[in-house]
Amino acid sequence: MSKKKALYVAMIVSLIVSIFGGTAFAEADRVPGGPSTEGNTNISSIITYDEMIKELNKLEKRSKGSLEIMTLDEFGYEPGKSEAGRDLYVAKIGEGDEKVWVQGRIHGNEPYGTESILEVMKKLVSNGSPTYETLREEITFYFIPMYNPDGSEKNIRHTLLEESEDRRIDLNRDWAEDGFAASESLAYYSFWTDVKPDYAIDIHHQGLKTQYGTNKAVTLSLGISLAPGGPTLPSIEDGAYDELTRQMQVYVYDALNDYGNINIDRYTVGGGDYVIDIKGGVVSAMMLGLNYDGMNADGHSNPAVFFETSGNTRDGNLGQKSRGKLIRQNVRGLESLLYGIATEEVKDVDAERWDEIPISPIKGYQTDDGIIPIDNEGF
Ligand SMILES: [Zn+2]
Repeated sequence: MSKKKALYVAMIVSLIVSIFGGTAFAEADRVPGGPSTEGNTNISSIITYDEMIKELNKLEKRSKGSLEIMTLDEFGYEPGKSEAGRDLYVAKIGEGDEKVWVQGRIHGNEPYGTESILEVMKKLVSNGSPTYETLREEITFYFIPMYNPDGSEKNIRHTLLEESEDRRIDLNRDWAEDGFAASESLAYYSFWTDVKPDYAIDIHHQGLKTQYGTNKAVTLSLGISLAPGGPTLPSIEDGAYDELTRQMQVYVYDALNDYGNINIDRYTVGGGDYVIDIKGGVVSAMMLGLNYDGMNADGHSNPAVFFETSGNTRDGNLGQKSRGKLIRQNVRGLESLLYGIATEEVKDVDAERWDEIPISPIKGYQTDDGIIPIDNEGF
């Protein structure tokens, strides 16, 4: 590297550190295996929108027709683009009857959903193992590698409304009965009403977290935006999703928890005091069978789960060191859950074992209308 270039790189690095926080975490308190606590996020290693498109096109070519890459405006949806006018990319692959929707990076500063999805897509295109044979035969996949391209490009959670840039919209609160604030939401909702998936998986990031009562770093939390046993989910589909969402989480927990460096618990908010139960979350609305403007008149709905990878660009703790580990963890989680869906093993899981996935004592549900307190029974 030339002197001039080295100086330039050093400037960029210090700029990134100053933007994303150079605060050092107390590394000593945490046992190894969690995300990097080195106190800076190397965003140059995070995939950009343009790089994703390049990768999608490469995979499509390599697949010799088995992988279809599409943008939502090609379907004639109005409007079929992001608020800033970016194309919204979706990908379809597989021959199976079971339709699975996998989305990543609905929050633009939660990057690894995109990279995990691309990795699974790559394997679906080229991996000859029996597992991937089964996945291709039993499932038709609908991948959304970067749900929120505008927020991703800005490395922020939200999207910004075109008509008034100071209005930030959390796309994961925007599948609402009275309509959609952001153009992305209506485009993806329209696509969902056409696809009518049987399952959905939604990949997020959370901040650093320690398993309750231990000093073990949590690397992945499992959850869903309508809480099993909560105020909403048990009444949907006669409780079928309340059971299925538990089964899906236990299936992933069993499959991953034996890997070194992976430590799983249940997703909480409010510093571990609450679990979420929100109706405008995308996968919540899927489970509720949102029928906006008569577009889902037959009331299609499907169960879903979240993956919440620990480490977050907004907290500045997604270091390059942990990148490979965290993406691999998501890929393993996806592979196992998809295999469980393909073989229907998911439905054989004892749903009550969901209680075995560690969680802190919970005081209530965080809902759209505030906190609903609960006693701690059942947690
Ligand atoms: Zn998120």
